[in-house]
Amino acid sequence: MDFAQTSVITTLPVMEAFYTIQGEGFHQGRAAYFIRLGGCNVGCFWCDVKESWDADKHPKIAIDEIVETASKEPGRLAVITGGEPLMHNLDELTYRLQSEGFETNIETSGSFPLSGHWNWICVSPKKFRPPTDEALANANELKVIIYNKNDFAWAEKHAANVSAECKLYLQPEWERAPIMTPPIIDYIKENPRWELSLQIHKYINVP
Ligand code: SF4
Repeated sequence: MDFAQTSVITTLPVMEAFYTIQGEGFHQGRAAYFIRLGGCNVGCFWCDVKESWDADKHPKIAIDEIVETASKEPGRLAVITGGEPLMHNLDELTYRLQSEGFETNIETSGSFPLSGHWNWICVSPKKFRPPTDEALANANELKVIIYNKNDFAWAEKHAANVSAECKLYLQPEWERAPIMTPPIIDYIKENPRWELSLQIHKYINVP
């Protein structure tokens, strides 16, 4: 999937980059190189990476260097996350990663215009800044964070706007997981097109 735009940027604000196991969603369990970009104005009150919000607090790193560092690891799955990564144009980064043999996956709220060349788009919609129709239409995975029982109806509202092939996940908000996982399990049993996503990386204590 290509969402080519004209502007070419050569640096991006990187909060952190690390090689680990993808803990969530369809690609859970795979070795993955995470690139967490700075910058987010979505404002989720339960956000567990609030330090990512201010892009200016993170060093702008040359895309050459980002890709070169990622390429030193044996895995060839790159996950671009944030922050809200689509606050930046990701055409050049994803083109370069794919040229080095990476699959490129994104984790996004879907609330900004799409850019980049993607093998997998995971849209995790947020109430505070809703996803665009474009993001939902192009999502390979819809991952809805469940904070309380009202969120099931909200999840269905977005599921109505994704493609028939899009994978559907319900994931308990981490702090609320002990309370919300049982009703999520009940909901999935009644609505089996949904699947459970857990933040496995937090259970096994890896980044
Ligand atoms: S979209 Fe993600 S990074 Fe931004 S506030 Fe929400 S949880 Fe945090």
